[in-house]
Amino acid sequence: MSKGTYFIRTFGCQMNEHDSERLAGMLEAEGYRKTDSAEGASVVLFNTCCIRENADTRLYGNLGHAKAIKDRNPGMKIVVGGCLAQKDRSAIQERAPYVDVVLGTHNLASLPRLLRESDEAPSFEILEQTEAFPSALPARRNSTWHAWVSISIGCNNSCTFCIVPAVRGKEISRPVYDIVQEVQGLVEDGVVEVTLLGQNVNSYGRDIGGTPLFSKLLYALDEIRELERIRFTSPHPKDFRSDSVDAMANCRVVCEHIHLPVQAGSNAMLRRMKRAYTRERYLDKIAMVRDAIPDIAITTDIIVGFPGETEAEFEETLSLVEAVRYDAAYTFQYSARPMTEAATMDGHLPKEVVQERYERLAALQDGISYQRNERMVGAEQEVLVEGPSKKDPARLTGRTRMNKLVHFPTDGAEPGSLRTVRIDKANTHHLEGSLVEGRTTDAPRSMSLPLVASTTSACSGCA
Ligand code: SAM
Ligand code: SF4
Repeated sequence: MSKGTYFIRTFGCQMNEHDSERLAGMLEAEGYRKTDSAEGASVVLFNTCCIRENADTRLYGNLGHAKAIKDRNPGMKIVVGGCLAQKDRSAIQERAPYVDVVLGTHNLASLPRLLRESDEAPSFEILEQTEAFPSALPARRNSTWHAWVSISIGCNNSCTFCIVPAVRGKEISRPVYDIVQEVQGLVEDGVVEVTLLGQNVNSYGRDIGGTPLFSKLLYALDEIRELERIRFTSPHPKDFRSDSVDAMANCRVVCEHIHLPVQAGSNAMLRRMKRAYTRERYLDKIAMVRDAIPDIAITTDIIVGFPGETEAEFEETLSLVEAVRYDAAYTFQYSARPMTEAATMDGHLPKEVVQERYERLAALQDGISYQRNERMVGAEQEVLVEGPSKKDPARLTGRTRMNKLVHFPTDGAEPGSLRTVRIDKANTHHLEGSLVEGRTTDAPRSMSLPLVASTTSACSGCA
């Protein structure tokens, strides 16, 4: 029996996106139907993030807007879940007393019960430990051809800037057979690409097998016929070892892309961040992976303006970016978070200093991203179609195995289809191409790029 509609707004990372699919799955199992607007919905759920401070501000802005809708539709229930709920706990109740349900990161499965209880009075529940691995819950997947698959939750590291361990708890890995079974089922339902999720995928399995099992997992998934692509996020540089690189190189399905977050280029900063690797060790890992997979695309995360960052230390980050020549970088201005060590450190920097460094870094990386893309002009690439281009419906958008976004003229291909596309033009953040006549899936999976624009100075091990 239909109980009305639900609307979910998700903030933050892919893990939250996937948690939202589980929350949606539970709501549908309860008889709610999805809607695309909060207006008129019976349940409006905010799945929150707290990794940086602006996430807090955005949630409370959104709650104010939801309250205005609830005033017009008093039967509507407002639910707040996820990391910010785990962090703020009763503060949500105090700041937004009209919220009906608050649940944290460890008790997603309680949503139906908490919603029922909120018929009587607002219902709030935050647990300290995970009740059940989210994969045990039903999911309403947002895509028919791509799926997020959690391999572990939580994190055992203690990076001094990061609130994740405080709100997501200790690392818990899922058994290999459980993951393989889920992926097998997804493939039978038409999924061709999966992204494996964990805060530190390379320590996956340490809590169940004593040693990391990530490479074994990749080999096991590689056996699944009709699975076309595996991606994963994120490996932690300290745990990224040669067995994972070998598995990446040897497994047909593993894409030629790695996101290896570096955070900073100076050893003193890496120490203060407690990242447990040095600049030199990080560069060795980059060389190792490029040695095994020469055309691999490499992306990263970088924080600018960590407490005490000197101009000289920041310049070491710039020089590391120049040495690695990333395909793309997600750059963040440091944001002090409660429950983290860095928040209490001396040397918090003025906003103008951080902004100026952030812009310098972005300009440097944009130039490198463009040059990395320019190398691809003339190459034929296997592209997995995502759908019509948002700006131009006469074109399709898809991704290469190296995770480069490509726009090309449509031939009516459905999302999830594979096409061979010749790259005609490079831009900083995407490529443009044309379909190679009569070919759908047989582009070489790892090709040698034509070096038409080899203006770049490559680091040791670069293609
Ligand atoms: N587990 C991943 C790793 O170790 O690389 C990172 C996960 S975190 C959700 C994603 C990114 O957010 C981090 O790599 C970092 O660059 C950024 N980040 C985390 N805490 C931050 C903070 N306090 N201020 C700014 N950026 C932050
Ligand atoms: Fe946060 Fe570090 Fe864990 Fe990544 S590895 S989630 S940055 S504590």
